[in-house]
Amino acid sequence: TKKVLVLLYGGRSAEREVSVLSAESVIFAVNYDKFSVKTFFITQTGDFIKTQTFDETPKAGTKLMTNGTIDASAIVSPASIYEKDAVVFPVLHGPMGEDGSIQGFLEILKMPYVGPSITSASVTMDKIMAKHVFESVDVPQVPYVALTDLTQIDEKISEVADKLSYPVFVKPANMGSSVGISKVSDASQLRDAITEAKKYDNRILIEQGVNAREIEVAVLGNSDVKTTLAGEVVKAVEFYDYQSKYIDNQITMAIPAEIPDDIMTKMREIAARAYRAVAGVGMSRCDFFLTEDHQLYLNEINAIPGFTEFSMYPLLWENMGLSYPDLIESLVDLAIEAFDIRE
Ligand code: ADP
Ligand code: MG
Ligand code: MG
Repeated sequence: TKKVLVLLYGGRSAEREVSVLSAESVIFAVNYDKFSVKTFFITQTGDFIKTQTFDETPKAGTKLMTNGTIDASAIVSPASIYEKDAVVFPVLHGPMGEDGSIQGFLEILKMPYVGPSITSASVTMDKIMAKHVFESVDVPQVPYVALTDLTQIDEKISEVADKLSYPVFVKPANMGSSVGISKVSDASQLRDAITEAKKYDNRILIEQGVNAREIEVAVLGNSDVKTTLAGEVVKAVEFYDYQSKYIDNQITMAIPAEIPDDIMTKMREIAARAYRAVAGVGMSRCDFFLTEDHQLYLNEINAIPGFTEFSMYPLLWENMGLSYPDLIESLVDLAIEAFDIRE
């Protein structure tokens, strides 16, 4: 009998469009000799809507139902995704997807699920929390100031003046896909950037800006952690905001990244160490900055990285000889392994 893979896509976060694209790639890549796929769209308001079911590779051009094409009367109770022996793939990014909430729900349902655990999702989603954890295992990071009490903005602004130099990056702690992030080139713009970040979270990170290449390592595994050779996001714009990342498609990738062997090795070692420190389960993409004078900093870990067939994470594995369909299967196996350990 085929295993049922339950795909959850859409979601409440600002990153829902990316999620739909990733889920669409998955439905075309799944090996339908082994799996059938049931899909549920999560709306912006958090309702679950039963969408398509696939028993074979869909016709070219098939789109998953989303805003506009969904049948709003097909709203179901979230718990109705339950099916014995099914595995869930939450192809969701950002808050309410990649932050532990959906993972906790799936544990209550007693369903195996692909990707991070509650802990690894929530720790990596909060950029401030992640910094504290990385610090504890000596992972190199850019200097930063954490604003966690909004009554202390003035104190924190003077701390920025003492500790950092411009440009700085201002980020909401709980977000992804560059949403709410500003690059600030002088002190006069700092308050506006904080106001912008505050729309998304009341925990705000102010980071030293660095002029660096952006190089990423894919990690796969539970207790047995595997890493890929790194890939580079080759920059065509100053910083990858949401528009340039997903709308203008201004990203080219160099896989593997052209970097010295010793830096490659060091990066993979740091990626594995950081992944273990945040209790990594399933997968993650570890994103680094590499400066011209070869300073290496971990920028962040994305526990549910962009997952279209053209995304960095699957391409890094393909470069290691693991195809996109086989990667999905490995992730399902890891989900079942993690589930069996919990039960
Ligand atoms: P997200 O989780 O939204 O991807 P990031 O922290 O990765 O957030 O920031 C998004 C992008 O902003 C990065 O890919 C990089 O281009 C730029 N950026 C972020 N922080 C810095 C920094 N400290 N120095 C230079 N560029 C940065
Ligand atoms: Mg991120
Ligand atoms: Mg990022």
